Amino acid sequence: MTDFTPAQGIHHVTCIAGDPQRNMDFWTETLGLRLVKRSINQDDPSTYHFFFADAEGTPGTSMTFFPWENLSQGKVGSGQVSRTAFRVPEGSLDYWEDRFDEYGVDYDDRVERFGETVLPFRDPDGLPIELVAVEIPDDDPTVPWTAFVPEEHAIRGFHSVTLWLANPDSTMGLLRTMGLEEVGTEESPGDTPGDERTRFAAAGPVGKYVDVLPTIQAGRQGHGTVHHVAFQTPTDEDQDAMRRAVSGEGLSPTQQIDRHWFRSVYFREFNGVLFELATSDPGYDSDEPLDELGGRLVLPGKFASQREQIEAGLPDVTVPRTDAVEADD
Ligand code: ZN
Repeated sequence: MTDFTPAQGIHHVTCIAGDPQRNMDFWTETLGLRLVKRSINQDDPSTYHFFFADAEGTPGTSMTFFPWENLSQGKVGSGQVSRTAFRVPEGSLDYWEDRFDEYGVDYDDRVERFGETVLPFRDPDGLPIELVAVEIPDDDPTVPWTAFVPEEHAIRGFHSVTLWLANPDSTMGLLRTMGLEEVGTEESPGDTPGDERTRFAAAGPVGKYVDVLPTIQAGRQGHGTVHHVAFQTPTDEDQDAMRRAVSGEGLSPTQQIDRHWFRSVYFREFNGVLFELATSDPGYDSDEPLDELGGRLVLPGKFASQREQIEAGLPDVTVPRTDAVEADD
C-alpha cells in the first residue's frame, strides 16, 4: 500500500534524434503533434530541445527530443524504454496507414495486445513508436491539435511505454512502490524479445500503462533511442513523497531540479532506465501565450542573457505553422 498519491501516468518521454529539421518535420507535419516549446538542452545549450504535444501541452502528451547530430545510431536493448505508444481514436488506424503510405513512413503489421490494436512504426531516426486505437472519453483531458491531422484521427497523448529489462522483478517491484498496479500478463507477439509482457497501470487517464518485457539483448544509446521517461507527480508534495518512497527502495534520486515548465527529480531504476518525476505546473504556457507556443526559441533563466551566443551555435531550423487552428472549421 502507498501512503501518497500514486504516479498519475507518463508525463513526457525524451528521445535522441539526429537531424533537427527532419525530426521537427516528422513529429509536426507527419504525425500532427504541436510544437509547444522550442528551447535548448539545459545541460548542453549548444543542442536544441524540442517539445511536441497536444494543442495545450497537457501533461501526458509531450514527446521531446535532443537532436544530437554528432551522436551515432543507437540500438534498442535492455535497460531502455524500447517502445513508446500513443493513443489514437478507435477506427483511425486505416487513416494512419494511408498517411504513412503517403509520407513514406516505415510501419509494420498491426498486432493485438491486451484486447487493443497496435500499429508499430518508426520515426526517421529509427525510433520505435506505436499507435494504439482506444475509445477516447468525452471528458478526456487531451486537446487535439488539428493543423495537420483532422481531429477525429489526431494523436491523443501517450498510451504506454514498454521497458526491456534484464531483471524485470526488481523494476516491477519499483513500479508497485510508485503506485502502479499490475493488470495483466500475456504472450508478446511481434518483434519483442521476451515471451511474456506484463502490464502495469497508473491512476490517471493519459499515459496510463508501463509494459515490462525481459531481455538480455544489449542496447546502446544514440539516435532512435529513448533518453528517459518522466512520470506525473502533479504537486511538489506528491513528488517529494514519491522521491522518499523511491529512496526507501535503495535508489538514489536527485534533489528537485527546476526545469522551468515543470520541476523534476531523476533516478536510474534497477535495470538502468532513467526515470524522472515531473510536476504538472507551471506548464508550457507559463512563458509563452497558449496561441503562440513554439513560435520562438525560449531560453529559460540564466540562458536568457546569452541569447545571441546560443542562437549562433544552433543550426537553422524552419518551424512549421505554429498558429492555433479554429476547431470548428
Ligand atoms: Zn524529462
